[in-house]
Amino acid sequence: MNIFRKLDDYKSYLAKIRKEGRCIGFVPTMGYLHAGHVSLFERAKQENDITVASVFVNPLQFGPNEDFERYPRDEARDLAALEKAGVDAALFPSVEEMYPQGTPKTKVTVSGVTERLCGASRPGHFDGVATVVMKLLQIVSPDRIYFGMKDAQQVAVIERMVADLNVPVTVVACPTLREADGLALSSRNVYLTPEERAQAPALYHALELAEELFAARPEITADELQRAVEDQLRSQAPLGTIDYVDVLTFPDLEPIDGPLKQVQRFIVAMAVYFGKARLIDNRVFDNPMLK
Ligand code: AMP
Repeated sequence: MNIFRKLDDYKSYLAKIRKEGRCIGFVPTMGYLHAGHVSLFERAKQENDITVASVFVNPLQFGPNEDFERYPRDEARDLAALEKAGVDAALFPSVEEMYPQGTPKTKVTVSGVTERLCGASRPGHFDGVATVVMKLLQIVSPDRIYFGMKDAQQVAVIERMVADLNVPVTVVACPTLREADGLALSSRNVYLTPEERAQAPALYHALELAEELFAARPEITADELQRAVEDQLRSQAPLGTIDYVDVLTFPDLEPIDGPLKQVQRFIVAMAVYFGKARLIDNRVFDNPMLK
């Protein structure tokens, strides 16, 4: 595996790959890799000649009171996971390498889709995400870029940015990988105490409830579904504090009036604090009646 810490070194490698006419799949990550990340590497490997991954904890997307400093990092473990997954090239740029002039004066802001959900709870977060992804796209120059649907709002933001700015890349959204009890894999799960970990599958159960309720009564409204999901989350996860539960159109992430059966595609999304950990999860529903 080729390991790059300097962007200029990657540039020479890229020139060689391009000369050979090979296509590139790219998976950006913040490291502390788990099987969810590996599923993206595997998908990229299936669909491209060369798979590139980056490990960069991007300070720009963390708020002042968030977990940038204590975000879990383990470079040796990540290198082993990347090697095992058969990734061809791994980028490990430092903050100085990515932002040599300090905080960038140019930022990418995607409006609308960033207003609700994590965009409302984490002001500036998606500016940081869109800006670093745009930078990484310029650096890596992939044909395809891979994201997990666990971060569905991130997918919506990047797809909109790519469409609005004619970025020459295909965005591929991949399914969420889960533990056996339904908890979505996340680097932040290491923050959970055993007691919190035992209650954390409540997010998954709440999504299952949403699915059951919508299947049983497609005329249910977004408000009704949201309240039912919140009630169950509260009773199943007393150690958790709900940040948000929302039911919105997908991918535009706009509020919904009236019965959900009239909406082509919607998302049930939630964020719940368990002590130091803030967990997110979601499910996207397609309405077969409206195809
Ligand atoms: P992160 O390192 O948390 O920034 O995640 C890097 C990429 O992996 C993002 O596109 C995430 O959506 C994706 N990802 C994180 N967790 C999972 C998971 N459990 N299943 C699938 N993809 C995931």
